[in-house]
Amino acid sequence: MTQINDRLAKMQSAMQGAGVDLAAIGPTANMRYLLGFAPHPDERLCLLLVNQRDACMVVPGLNLEEIAAHADVDFFPWADADGPQAALRQALVTLRAPRTLAVDGAMRADFLLRLQAAATPDRTTTVDALLTPLRMRKSAAEIETLAAAASQADRAMQAAVDACRPGVTEAEVAWAAEVAFRQDGAEEVCFTLVASGPNAAYPHHHSGERRLQPGDAIVIDIGASLAGYKSDITRMVHLGQPSAEFLKVHAAVYQAHQRAMAAVRPGVTCEQIDRIARGTLEAAGYGSFFTHRTGHGLGLEGHEPPWIMVGDATVLQEGMVFSIEPGVYLVGRFGVRIEDIVVVTASGVRNLAGFDHALVVKA
Ligand code: ZN
Ligand code: ZN
Repeated sequence: MTQINDRLAKMQSAMQGAGVDLAAIGPTANMRYLLGFAPHPDERLCLLLVNQRDACMVVPGLNLEEIAAHADVDFFPWADADGPQAALRQALVTLRAPRTLAVDGAMRADFLLRLQAAATPDRTTTVDALLTPLRMRKSAAEIETLAAAASQADRAMQAAVDACRPGVTEAEVAWAAEVAFRQDGAEEVCFTLVASGPNAAYPHHHSGERRLQPGDAIVIDIGASLAGYKSDITRMVHLGQPSAEFLKVHAAVYQAHQRAMAAVRPGVTCEQIDRIARGTLEAAGYGSFFTHRTGHGLGLEGHEPPWIMVGDATVLQEGMVFSIEPGVYLVGRFGVRIEDIVVVTASGVRNLAGFDHALVVKA
């Protein structure tokens, strides 16, 4: 007998509203959201199948005991020697083959192909319209986990900043952050991006063997996972006295960040927040060097809706969580980005980051 929890029930009522007969969820953040657990994803077919009344799982037999300890649904296990097709067909008989199927956009393409072959739906869509509105608004418990994750990121940032000195490689600074996250109990270190000197002009530079030099600006952008929930923070370090132009760019980015954050409250749209950050950098003469969106939602995934950018008219509501991360990138010279994770509160904004925004100047 399936125990339909509150989140599954909310998705089922969204399915009724949208005319979706069956939703199929892989071992992804969506499954972790719905069940509080997701097995390690691999090539073996693992699906949570939900119709408007019931739910079941098709699972690799070797993982059955572990999954059953976390999920209170009916199981259709399959053995390596048999393959998943028979178990999948039985599950579809129980839940009824759908006309409209909604699938997890993050599940493997080979899961989707097997599912479509077995279920033969008239129409296939994604579960985004069902789950995004639920996942965007975080509960109080989710926000506290995100706050704890942000505190870990503050401590790892301190370790990275402390590691910055001439002669050290970007990879060594990144490792200092990684070790700090691990010692602090992070479930997974998601990225430790350290971009120095001209590398800092690439927003997604991979930390490498370049050695830090006097005169370098260093972008440190790090994030990890705590109980499934992500962190993401960016701060700036400078070795030696920065130039007047660097300080001007840094001040403009900081002002864009602060103005955008001050505008966050329920009722404002995502694109309005982007407009404020972008307008500030345009007024300072750096608009064309701000080459990405102002921010992204964050929760069980490091990047998830809402998107703080032109074209996302999502109206901010209490409980939404996203980054504010304006940046300016002068190719061949340097880059500056400042990033915090913020929560929309009933009356305004809460910044989950505690690390000081000021440029850290080291000898
Ligand atoms: Zn980041
Ligand atoms: Zn980010």
